[in-house]
Amino acid sequence: MGFLKKLFSSAPARPSSSLYNFAVKCDRCGETIEGHINLANDLSNEFEDDREIFFVRKVLMGSSRCFQQIEVQMKFDANKQLIEKEISGGKFV
Ligand SMILES: [Zn+2]
Repeated sequence: MGFLKKLFSSAPARPSSSLYNFAVKCDRCGETIEGHINLANDLSNEFEDDREIFFVRKVLMGSSRCFQQIEVQMKFDANKQLIEKEISGGKFV
């Protein structure tokens, strides 16, 4: 039982504010698709000009018959504030 207790206590609850929500519009069919980035889990740590940044790449697909893939790339600074975003296949809304 001691082992289980340790396992649980080592996983602190993540605040819901660690979720970054955004929406994109498909270039092909115009559908709006919502995306979520988990700032605690989805970001990969990188260095750019000696400063620490966080990078994430996500591919979104609509729920309709359209099979367009919308690729989103975002960069965050060390404080997890969005500093740069790019999209292909759609637009940010
Ligand atoms: Zn579409």
